Amino acid sequence: MSAIISRIETRPSKIIKTLRFKLSAAFLGTLFLMLLILNTFPVFITQNQIVSAKRNDMQGKVGLLSTTLAALPVLTTEKISPVISVLDMDNISGRLLITDLNAVVVYDSARLSSLNAKVAVLPEIVTALSGNDVFRSNYKNGIFYSMASSPIVSTDGIKGCVYFYEKDLEEGAFLRRTQVNISKISIAIAFLGIAGAVFFSFIFGKRVNGLLNGIRSVREGEYAHVIELSGEDELSEVAKEFNELSTRLQKTEEVRREFVSNASHELRTPLASIKLLADSVVHTKKIDEKKLKEFLGDISDETDRLKRITEHLLILTRIDSSDSVKFQEVDLRRTIQKAVQNFELLLKQNGVQINCELSDNCIISADCDGAYQVVSNLLENAIKYNKEKNGFVTIRLYRKDNEVILEVSDNGVGIPEEDLPRIFERFYRVDKARSRETGGTGLGLSIVKEWVEDFGGSIRVESVFSKGTTFILTFESLYKDEAGL
Ligand code: ADP
Repeated sequence: MSAIISRIETRPSKIIKTLRFKLSAAFLGTLFLMLLILNTFPVFITQNQIVSAKRNDMQGKVGLLSTTLAALPVLTTEKISPVISVLDMDNISGRLLITDLNAVVVYDSARLSSLNAKVAVLPEIVTALSGNDVFRSNYKNGIFYSMASSPIVSTDGIKGCVYFYEKDLEEGAFLRRTQVNISKISIAIAFLGIAGAVFFSFIFGKRVNGLLNGIRSVREGEYAHVIELSGEDELSEVAKEFNELSTRLQKTEEVRREFVSNASHELRTPLASIKLLADSVVHTKKIDEKKLKEFLGDISDETDRLKRITEHLLILTRIDSSDSVKFQEVDLRRTIQKAVQNFELLLKQNGVQINCELSDNCIISADCDGAYQVVSNLLENAIKYNKEKNGFVTIRLYRKDNEVILEVSDNGVGIPEEDLPRIFERFYRVDKARSRETGGTGLGLSIVKEWVEDFGGSIRVESVFSKGTTFILTFESLYKDEAGL
């Protein structure tokens, strides 16, 4: 199968469009939230600092003046003016009002004659005349309007109050400039942010689209599909993992196809023989009884072969679907004794001697039927692929360290070195003719290997061609003696 490389498709699917939208919306939402904070928080802090500086300055001046004026016997313009000059407050920016206890203006820095001798009913003056210090500041249309007022308290009590009003354009302009500058920066950031969000969501969407296309292709059965994503980010990692997954799927699919093709081939051969034999019987006009029996015997043999193949295929399916495997404590000694008993007839027919050296307490965790199939397949092979005369089979079972070891040896035909690595493959036979003759399916050893691996064990084979073969199986021992072994 040739590799199909997916170029990243530029046409985005609905999912990608939604993903892009969500990404952009999340990014832009966060950006606008940050810009909102940037536009309000620094201005708020600066405004507070300006107000606090003003409070200190104005209250300081008002306080100093009211304390000084408290020493005057009476509050008149003539008496107040020299004090203001001494305190260097005659050119003060803003407006200074001094009232007597009745809120009548006795001094006005703006020197508005209209206000002199008038009652100034301002809330700050009223508060100050009741004995409290007041400060208030407003920021409006780029201007700070601030007022501070303090009572003039002598030993006789409250004599009047000092009221100071200031309209600050300078600090207001500074705050406004700061606001405008931050807004300009924010607009620039917003434009860059929108461009960035669109760009990155487009790139990201394009990469995710590539991944999606790959996943869809594999879902459609194109296991050779390779996703190519440049770069070294998390998405290219996902693409790499996915490519490995599809490669494995492809291998599994190839194995499955090969298995189905081999299985069909194996089933077709006996079926074709049965058809041929049956057709011969049907189309032969006069067939003697001996010939007929011979044909029917052959049909029966072929049917047996079909039965064995299907049985073996069913066992393999059972091993593959691990759900039906029931693990329990299995005493391998008893499994071997049962298998030997069942093979007594075959041993006799083949003239093969058997020798068993079986230790106690060789307990493993296994499926009971599976363990029997392991022992019987190995024993059957050791008998089948043995010498015609003086054949020997030895089964040894013992515990070593924490393991149970099972050895099945024969002095039979042996396996050529070049075939050893392949004998556990499904349907692999060294000598096809001999295997068929002896009713082999080519599945026995693969069943053994798959069961052994399922039981957490291992299997290896040692063989010398025309001298004999030994299969060595190792399992974890469930039985621990006093020494803990
Ligand atoms: P089969 O059903 O053909 O016996 P197996 O999977 O059991 O299939 O064995 C695969 C092949 O390994 C056999 O065809 C045979 O050639 C070889 N083989 C297995 N066991 C032995 C043995 N004990 N001695 C020699 N050859 C063996």
